Amino acid sequence: MASKRDYYEVLNVARDASEREIAGAYRKLALKYHPDANSNDEEATEKFKEAAEAYEVLSDSQKRALYDQYGHAGLQGAGQQFHEVEDIFEAFGDIFSGGLFGDLFGGGGGRRRDGRRVRRGEDLRCDATLDLEEAARGVTKTVKLKRKAPCKKCSGSGAAPGSVAQSCQRCGGRGQVVQSAGILRVQTVCPGCQGAGHVISSPCDGCRGSGFVPEPVTLDVAIPAGIDDGMRVRLTGQGQPSPDGGPPGDCYCFVSVRPHSLFERDGTHLILRLPVTYSQATLGATVEVPTLAGPEELKIPPGTPSGEVFRLRSKGMPDPHGGRAGDLHVQMFIEVPKKLTAAQEDLLRQLAELEHTDVAPHRKTFLEQLRSYFASTEDAAEHEG
Ligand SMILES: [Zn+2]
Ligand SMILES: [Zn+2]
Repeated sequence: MASKRDYYEVLNVARDASEREIAGAYRKLALKYHPDANSNDEEATEKFKEAAEAYEVLSDSQKRALYDQYGHAGLQGAGQQFHEVEDIFEAFGDIFSGGLFGDLFGGGGGRRRDGRRVRRGEDLRCDATLDLEEAARGVTKTVKLKRKAPCKKCSGSGAAPGSVAQSCQRCGGRGQVVQSAGILRVQTVCPGCQGAGHVISSPCDGCRGSGFVPEPVTLDVAIPAGIDDGMRVRLTGQGQPSPDGGPPGDCYCFVSVRPHSLFERDGTHLILRLPVTYSQATLGATVEVPTLAGPEELKIPPGTPSGEVFRLRSKGMPDPHGGRAGDLHVQMFIEVPKKLTAAQEDLLRQLAELEHTDVAPHRKTFLEQLRSYFASTEDAAEHEG
């Protein structure tokens, strides 16, 4: 045999090509030199085999390392030479029907020991609604949903009592058929039995031949502390059963968190709007603020302006991913009363008097600015007139 070409050269990729690039390059060549597209072209068949061999080595990290270090000699006994095109389909069957070529070839599921493809059960959805307090500490919610269970009438066979399921003639019980799609041979779910591998001539009337009936189930969903509105919790294996002995699907619990009367949420932080009186803001005060862990004292220093934000560290929500807990942001605002008692009004009027005669420095500056502004606009009016 003539000396072998370099595998990277065969696939036309760089020596540091990623797995993806190698798979992509092989895919291109496999499509180009596929025997179905090049009938009786021996050169194409040789190229097809050459590419498969290169891919077989470079897609395997151990073999690739050996090849990188010692070249073809390093692979003696390890590399595979494909003498027949059928061997390639045998070796890379999953690639032709799975990931590398995409879902077009019917991926998903797995393979049983007898070689028959099996499908994973469908995913299910359930919903849970929590209070903010529950979301903060984590909670277990019980949800009810309907899920398929084996039909009792036919013990899950789908065949009416007294009859039996027949092995599907179209696929010989494999559940898959090889079809030609363009230039490629493609494995697909058998249209005769929808992948079940068998056909039912007289279906069970309890499940209409499916072998399954919907049954109410109760699931306990452990919801982690800190979960936010719109997040999902996955219950592995709690979805629908597989129709043909494969793994079950998962159940996803969609969580909604009810709005809280006091706290607004911003990721892991909580925001609380805290009303104080004018005198508290001016004179300073110690006030009680609610937190999810109970009331806390907050010192408001004298002369705090409306809108000031105080941060209470780690009094927000826990991080559901295990990070630092959020803070509670207390945003203070001065609440202006709509009604006053006679005594309050009297005091406020006295204060108003004092504000005229004993103007605070910052207010003085503002009044001066105002006066000069009015003066300048009067000037402008005169010039125009
Ligand atoms: Zn079939
Ligand atoms: Zn049944």
